[in-house]
Amino acid sequence: MDCIFCSISKKEASADIVFEDEEIIAFKDIAPQAPVHILILPKKHIAKISDLSEENQMLTGKIINRARILAKEQGTSDSGYRLVFNSGDDGGQIVDHIHLHLIGGKKLGSIG
Ligand code: 5GP
Ligand code: ZN
Repeated sequence: MDCIFCSISKKEASADIVFEDEEIIAFKDIAPQAPVHILILPKKHIAKISDLSEENQMLTGKIINRARILAKEQGTSDSGYRLVFNSGDDGGQIVDHIHLHLIGGKKLGSIG
């Protein structure tokens, strides 16, 4: 399977990694939309949010918790930030390996 985020997770492709453990990895987005733009994902390949199952609840919780910690490290805890999972075509997902966007460091417009 040809997946860029699997390649980064296996260190076969380079990225600016800001965190990793056995299960998850976080690195800077190659085309940042804001001063802080980090992607947090499971090392295991799961294509999209719709493919998750009940057993993945711990994993997604861990990803969101890591986003919280990274936001603090990046100094955006108090100013605020956005967490986004794009899922599927209509959701604007381009890379088919689940990833959470942590975006901050500037005032973002409302999407509601
Ligand atoms: P999506 O639209 O799938 O939610 O977002 C994919 C994100 O991955 C985009 O923000 C894009 O800039 C980022 N991206 C795509 N390819 C690479 C890559 O090779 N390295 C890094 N660091 N980010 C990437
Ligand atoms: Zn993958």
